[in-house]
Amino acid sequence: MRALVVLGATGSIGSQTLEVADRLGLQVAGLAARHPSDALARLAAAYPEARVVIAEGEATGGKRFAERIGRPVEVGPDAVRSLAAQSDRTVVNGVVGSAGLAATLAALDSGNRVALANKESLVVGGPLVKAALGRGGGELIPVDSEHSALHQCLAGEHPDDVARIILTASGGPFRGRDRGQLEDVTPEEALAHPTWDMGARITVDSATLMNKGLEVIEAHHLFDAPFDKIEVVVHPRSIVHSAVEFIDGALKAHIGHPDMRIPIQYALTYPRRAANPGEPFSLENQVLEFEPVDRRAFPGLDLAYSAGAAGGTMPAVLNAADEVAVEAFLGGHISFLRITEIVEETLESVERAEVNSFDDVVAADAEAREVARAVMSSANSRL
Ligand code: MG
Repeated sequence: MRALVVLGATGSIGSQTLEVADRLGLQVAGLAARHPSDALARLAAAYPEARVVIAEGEATGGKRFAERIGRPVEVGPDAVRSLAAQSDRTVVNGVVGSAGLAATLAALDSGNRVALANKESLVVGGPLVKAALGRGGGELIPVDSEHSALHQCLAGEHPDDVARIILTASGGPFRGRDRGQLEDVTPEEALAHPTWDMGARITVDSATLMNKGLEVIEAHHLFDAPFDKIEVVVHPRSIVHSAVEFIDGALKAHIGHPDMRIPIQYALTYPRRAANPGEPFSLENQVLEFEPVDRRAFPGLDLAYSAGAAGGTMPAVLNAADEVAVEAFLGGHISFLRITEIVEETLESVERAEVNSFDDVVAADAEAREVARAVMSSANSRL
């Protein structure tokens, strides 16, 4: 297997990737993290051959960190791109947010395999990612558990035979609450996810179901599925990771432990498989429950469907407004229900444009952030 480059190396996906890589005996050729940290210093020591890149900050910070770890450190987005573009690599993109798109494009342009955990790459830049895939001859293997499941359910099937793609959602920590019961929820409550252990933004996105909305858009691009053929069903125990219904009425579902090491490993070893990184899964005494989404309590899902269907820059606007609103919620500045209201008001205020270039995405992202902040501050000044 190819040597690995791990982007977002100190995050949840990054550390689980490195655990899988160690077990498989894969070479780690590059490590990138947003900031210098003790965790990154430890990784640099553990992988003495790896190029070390810090995505954000000043060259001076990079110099200090280089002295600390005793080898060169590259700094900035160009360095991340150059790391992703080194040929003959599998690039695991575990970056959080739209910042991950540039690296995905660079890796695919160089013909690399991208193990994609950064769903925003496809959400904000779907058409660009598809074009890079065609141009560079690379591969895009999803790491997101639902999409890994769908990738496996769809393997060997003809696209015309697919009737529906069914994404499962855990429902998040607030499943079963109505809108009124969501008014006073705190960041601490939102961060307590029932099954998956993830970063802060994605955990809040799971609580609003915006994460599922982004995943619908991700599935649309990955599997060329129209939005009316993608459905979401709540499945609290996260054992069925997603399913596909075919035109003959047969359903294929992907079942197993909610353990991110499994989809990560699949993305590295595909089309082969390697030994289970965790405990075996037993079907005995398993109860599988499914329920519809409460779309009034969790309007984020439908916002994502409509932004996805509108296409162009609207998914990038959706994502950027959500990033701004989630940050404000985590900082204690806005309520939980305001998150999706801010996203909705931002979508209404920003004009749709086509995505023909990376700059189109950057411009839409910047405009949406500005508008989302303006929406927030005008509401605050009315209080
Ligand atoms: Mg997921």
